[in-house]
Amino acid sequence: MVNADTAVANVNQSSGETDFDVVVIGAGFAGLYALHRCREMGFRTVSLEKADSVGGTWLFNRYPGARCDIESIEYSYSFSEEIQQEWVWTENMPAQPEIEAYLNFVADRLDLRRDIKFTTHVVAMQFSDTDAAWTIRTEGGEIFTAGFVIAASGILSVPLEPTIEGMESFGGESLFTNRWPRDKVSFANKRVGIIGTGSTGVQAIPVVAREAAHLTVFQRSPAYTLPWEVRSLDDGELDEMKARYPEIRAAQREHFVGAARLTAFSFMLGMMERPRLLATSEEERQRAVEDDGVKGALNWSDVFTDMEANDLARRLYGRAIARIVTNPDTAASLVPSHAFGCKRPIIDQGYYETYNRDNVTLVDLRKGALKRVIPTGIETEQGTYDIDVIIFATGFDAMTGALTKMDIRGRLGQSLRDRWSSDGAGSYLGLAVAGFPNMFVVQAPGSPAPSSNYIAVMEANVEWITDCLAHLRHRGHRTIEATAQAQQEWMEHTTSMVKGSLFTHPSCNSWYNGGNVAGKKKMYMGYIAGVPEYRRRCDVAAANGYAGFDIDSAPST
Ligand code: NAP
Repeated sequence: MVNADTAVANVNQSSGETDFDVVVIGAGFAGLYALHRCREMGFRTVSLEKADSVGGTWLFNRYPGARCDIESIEYSYSFSEEIQQEWVWTENMPAQPEIEAYLNFVADRLDLRRDIKFTTHVVAMQFSDTDAAWTIRTEGGEIFTAGFVIAASGILSVPLEPTIEGMESFGGESLFTNRWPRDKVSFANKRVGIIGTGSTGVQAIPVVAREAAHLTVFQRSPAYTLPWEVRSLDDGELDEMKARYPEIRAAQREHFVGAARLTAFSFMLGMMERPRLLATSEEERQRAVEDDGVKGALNWSDVFTDMEANDLARRLYGRAIARIVTNPDTAASLVPSHAFGCKRPIIDQGYYETYNRDNVTLVDLRKGALKRVIPTGIETEQGTYDIDVIIFATGFDAMTGALTKMDIRGRLGQSLRDRWSSDGAGSYLGLAVAGFPNMFVVQAPGSPAPSSNYIAVMEANVEWITDCLAHLRHRGHRTIEATAQAQQEWMEHTTSMVKGSLFTHPSCNSWYNGGNVAGKKKMYMGYIAGVPEYRRRCDVAAANGYAGFDIDSAPST
């Protein structure tokens, strides 16, 4: 590593050596595993992490109620028998502090910290055709060179900054769920306002309501959310699961979403096996709502394939809410306008019940928009609300944000930011981008990450990438680059799978398709053929000599 002040900007001219074989960007789940694998394979590797600790998104999103929506036993590394035997999960669905502690345990257990540079924020990278290497620049002005880059910078790691007039004029405290303070925040005797009712808001609202003097929820789009049991693991339960880990991991590996235990995704897969809503009688529909609440309203096979069924399910969902929420206006305001299934499913603990509390007010922004933040609170077209603390739970510039925030220049100086903004976010196999050689992306657009267990896809990606690096080294190759044709075919394949589906329905604006970010090209950024099929396609490409990649090719002009 050299300092920017003294550095020759690129690879050491006399030795031709880079500082590192591999630079990993990030020290969250993916970055830690990539660093470990690269090091085990003998690559000189460093991880550059903007935070002062490991954890990635699980470090920053420490807001009240933050919790994973997949069971701990499956939302965890499967590559190390020692780690999975030694770590003790205390709950079925892990809360943020436990996941953060787990990642710290892993970093220590594998002695990873010595190769992580913390508070090192990568802001730019440039590929040199001559040297077949990347030069990586940080916010602090440091420069690193490496033959290869693994961007493990996260799919939900860049906050979507709300652009609400007057935010800077607010006289109280502004808090952002995606960069929550380390010190405990007290809401006692405070009038709290929260903006955002996605997964994050739905988790935070019941917890904040229990402590605040008053909570006002500013809701632009109501969510579909499924009540879910979170519980401590019983005595002996974890030991019993640990004894069956080979079986649990095997089932997970074969499962469509990379998690075989019950998740909101598997609830949705289960819907396909159910009767058609449009073929049921009014009595059957009513019984489903009475017996199973909001789940009963949605749990029909044609909800995904027939918009009439979807809209009927939406109305039944409203009926189910009205059975929980006692104020009829509030209940009506909680009914979503968009189709069920087009956004990532949400699970909750007591979300709708929270609206029966005397200290909670729902402001339905569909009836009158949020106008501005003022020094004493929030002004809407429906009136002004006095607030001491505003919580922004407004989401992420997902999938692409971490990469487009950096100035990444590939072959012939082309900019990744420009490329994705003009052509849409493309990649080959969700792993690499044409024109950007020797750069691998963990869970690039076109990977199944959005609608899967992120950890399962991440492990598959890291293993594929590091095996590829070993292959290149073994054969003495210096560069690898996805071909434009392979990328185009992959993106045609991924987008053809969602054509005409709910994911592309006009009512659907979400981080899945970039519709939540003003000006972002709208396209579904996932891959819905399932994790096993995705892994199979990646493996086939590797087995065929990395089909779809150019190896040691010259730049085309
Ligand atoms: P999100 O789903 O994008 O929700 C953001 C919310 O903020 C939406 O309700 C959005 O309304 C609202 N919003 C944004 N800007 C606004 C504005 N200017 N005025 C009013 N409302 C505004 O983001 P998220 O809740 O952070 O969740 C993102 C993803 O993170 C999830 O889908 C999930 O994958 C992951 N996550 C997972 C968990 C878990 O594991 N349980 C927990 C939290 C997050 P519109 O919909 O109208 O734009």
